[in-house]
Amino acid sequence: MKNYFVALALLLITFSACQLKSPKEENASLKMIEAVDFSHVKINDSFWSTILQKHVSATIPVCIDQIENQTGRIQNFENAAKRQGEHSGIYFDDSDVYKALEGMAYTLVNNPDPALEQKADEWIDKFAAAQEPDGYINTFYTLTGLENRWTNMVKHEMYCAGHMIEAAVAYYKATGKRKLLDVSEKMAQHMMSIFGPGKRHWVPGHEEIELALVKLYQVTGKQEYLDFSDWLLNERGHGYGSTGGNGDWNADYFQDNMPVKEMSSITGHAVRSMYLYCGMADVAALKGDTAYIAALHRLWDDVVLRNMYITGGIGSSADNEGFTEDYDLPNLEAYCETCASVGMVLWNWRMNQFTGNTKYIDVLERSLYNGVLAGISAEGDRFFYVNPLESKGDHHRQAWYGCACCPSQVSRFIPSIGNYIYGLSKDIIWVNLYIGNEAVLPTSQGDIPVSIQTNMPWSGEVKVTMGKNYKGEIRMRIPEWANEYQLQVNGKNADVTIDKGYAVLNRNWKAGDEISLNMPIETKMVAADPRVKADEGKRAVMRGPLVFCAEEVDNKQSYDKMELNNNSQFAESYNANLLNGIEQIQVQTGNTSFSLIPYYAWDNREAGRMKVWLDYIN
Ligand SMILES: [Zn+2]
Repeated sequence: MKNYFVALALLLITFSACQLKSPKEENASLKMIEAVDFSHVKINDSFWSTILQKHVSATIPVCIDQIENQTGRIQNFENAAKRQGEHSGIYFDDSDVYKALEGMAYTLVNNPDPALEQKADEWIDKFAAAQEPDGYINTFYTLTGLENRWTNMVKHEMYCAGHMIEAAVAYYKATGKRKLLDVSEKMAQHMMSIFGPGKRHWVPGHEEIELALVKLYQVTGKQEYLDFSDWLLNERGHGYGSTGGNGDWNADYFQDNMPVKEMSSITGHAVRSMYLYCGMADVAALKGDTAYIAALHRLWDDVVLRNMYITGGIGSSADNEGFTEDYDLPNLEAYCETCASVGMVLWNWRMNQFTGNTKYIDVLERSLYNGVLAGISAEGDRFFYVNPLESKGDHHRQAWYGCACCPSQVSRFIPSIGNYIYGLSKDIIWVNLYIGNEAVLPTSQGDIPVSIQTNMPWSGEVKVTMGKNYKGEIRMRIPEWANEYQLQVNGKNADVTIDKGYAVLNRNWKAGDEISLNMPIETKMVAADPRVKADEGKRAVMRGPLVFCAEEVDNKQSYDKMELNNNSQFAESYNANLLNGIEQIQVQTGNTSFSLIPYYAWDNREAGRMKVWLDYIN
């Protein structure tokens, strides 16, 4: 069995001039790949369809129940509408309601449900009623003292506004209903009446508004929203941040330690960093501002090469929910907030669109199949906020959290999974993730139906079928985990060139043409970068994009004796009846035998210890 090092090679990124015009002609896009919205992609997949079904039947009902019945989140809006009563919970709890609504909106795109839509409309009516006449909306300040609003960057007013905007855009796209979009525009206008060039300075303590304003710009076409987002990004790092005298954190924590275009290392809170980078990428793409992109490349190296777990999780410290020193990646104490892994997907998706390089999708896939998926239970009704790589048996999924950013995050992320499969540029179809689906891609040559069949992540066989004639390239991502692959078109070996990790197939495609990609999935022992002290003398086991772990429930006798060596034998088997169907690996090292399951599936059975990194004896 071979050993592989996780250390990722530094590849030279080349910029390519824009090939597609952005929707708004006045701004030149820096992106070489345009996203394909999930509304064009119907997931039909042995792995993901189960997760999507449970999202509808369990995850969304759990979020609604928690918001309406178990916590005071919706009541805060009802009280704010009456301008009386108490605010309950945390000052940013509004954001969970907006994020749950965003998830409901995405769900409605591919699963129309009048009852769910009616629930969403009810909520939106309550939001609208809670809005102040001047456009301001935030139940915490409406109920605790409006005179104190906009005095403290830590209080997440723009963060909540950002999540409302994202929900509004999602719901407008799903239903055509404008009500929440109008509320959002009114709030945006309110913010721009106070802050901006020649007005007050402001640094949002938790980023989110920046990427949301770009979405608002894209759906309304109003340049002022994009400009305001750009302005907010550039407010950081000049000492304008104000914690209202009660902040416990320094500027590093808020990414307010230097102007964002000068940044080269990630600091502070992981989720805030991810949202910041997404905002920078979005503004850069539309404004043609390469200084943002140069910073993002430096930051990416810092995150991925020195501060990322094997699971694609980031943020090692619970203290600041974020970063410490390079290579400080403890396993038992790992924080790896679920939201940060979702952030890694969102950011790496954008980086791929700038570069056409698969290394970003490799990270996206790693974070998705490990860091993100671990955040939700097999039944879709329980969640992890913190995702350690080792447990003494005391870390368990919960139905909800006082700070519920992660459940609502997963709820809005899962139904949009179709976003990450394809990309488009002029006469090029980019295939990034291998998830079974039937899509109609809005290409430069009109709508082209394309479908993917696969049994990923359990098998590396992929079939892509063209539904219509198409002249141009299809770029198939060859994942970093694939040591070899075979690519055929209509059963014949295909001539391919490789460009930045993509196998490029160029021809006059006919309806019915079939591309077969076969990538044998091997069980591998992986070593961490030697500078990661926590993983010294250890190896993790991976298959394809999946990190595996040992749970005590499978290894009651052998848990304290488990080790790996160069002669360890691995036997893989698929168990359809376990945890929605998973592959298990039976490991034999000397006289000791033990069993591994995919990391994302842990803590769904009897409580017990767990670890990803196993002792390795040379
Ligand atoms: Zn979270």
